[in-house]
Amino acid sequence: MKIGVLGAGQLGRMLAIAAYPLGHQMAFTANSEDEPSVLLGKAFISDGTQDSTEQLTSASEVITFESENTDVEIVKKISKKTPVYPGAKSLFTTQHRGREKAIFDNLGIPCAPYQMVNSLADLQTAVDAIGLPAILKTATEGYDGKGQFVIRSDDQLEKAWLSMHGVEAILEGFVNFKRELSLIAVRGIDNSHKYYPLVENTHHNGILRLTTAPAENISVKVQEQAEHYMQTLLDEMEHVGVLTIELFETSDGLVVNEMAPRVHNSGHWSIEGARTSQFENHVRAITGSPLGETACLQQYCAMINIIGEHGPVDKVLELGNAHLHLYGKSERKGRKLGHITITANTLSELNKALNALDAFMP
Ligand code: AMP
Repeated sequence: MKIGVLGAGQLGRMLAIAAYPLGHQMAFTANSEDEPSVLLGKAFISDGTQDSTEQLTSASEVITFESENTDVEIVKKISKKTPVYPGAKSLFTTQHRGREKAIFDNLGIPCAPYQMVNSLADLQTAVDAIGLPAILKTATEGYDGKGQFVIRSDDQLEKAWLSMHGVEAILEGFVNFKRELSLIAVRGIDNSHKYYPLVENTHHNGILRLTTAPAENISVKVQEQAEHYMQTLLDEMEHVGVLTIELFETSDGLVVNEMAPRVHNSGHWSIEGARTSQFENHVRAITGSPLGETACLQQYCAMINIIGEHGPVDKVLELGNAHLHLYGKSERKGRKLGHITITANTLSELNKALNALDAFMP
């Protein structure tokens, strides 16, 4: 099929790499020639003279997007002509933290206590109800920990509110978690579902640095609980494609933090680590093909993000069980430039490779 992607970053690039062996063609909307997906398909570059979204719609049989910040009205408009997966319902829900929390509440999925905040007075009311510590986050467009303020004492309220720059915000109670996990799943057009194993994520300065797959010591019950939450969300939003939920593991069980209606950085390990990668499964889902198996190929897998600078990438190539993925981006502080996957049959083999690559860790 002719697959169109709104956006041309590394997610689109990895979708294309997965789509070509299945015989598909790819097209993207891009802001410039330099974006990671541009060389991997037809690129409609926004140059102010032509409507690149319109061009993509005419050139595609099915459309998907790379970011939850995609304009819902545009998606509604183009889906009259060309199917867009995931649909507007998933996009509308997941681009606003308040709407996400409301759907978690409605479906009985545990999440942090929260209140929407539109003024300093609202913030005071929310803090009185939720208590401290708490986290104030922008309701939309936050990523990699941006647009967040951890409030520990009452005298920080004004500073926290000012840091939101007047936009709608949400106050969340602070969750005392043991570790952060994520679950990636895919739903087909025919309502079939596949789930990857829960993985463990380590962040630094709000940016994902390391994913280990599967997460260690996850009982069957916990995996099933996470899959149950996921299934109710997939079905409620009539989601087609990959959906990711980020969770906190606490002593009282799983608490859902947020979700993303797309392939996710914490699923990059699946390219070499699973029978079918998240990218291939997303492509299969949106093209109406049977979904692929999600089981791990080896006992242990880890994914290290390459952030800000490329570093000693030859070290990766020297290892027998590591794979390098560079996205073709220039170096900039905090920027995701690539990732490394390590696969191993034993924990010591995994740790040996992680130690050899410690230059990539913060
Ligand atoms: P988010 O953008 O919501 O994923 O938040 C970024 C990071 O902040 C998460 O990965 C957590 O480490 C932390 N965080 C977010 N929300 C909470 C919360 N309610 N309680 C404790 N930590 C949180």
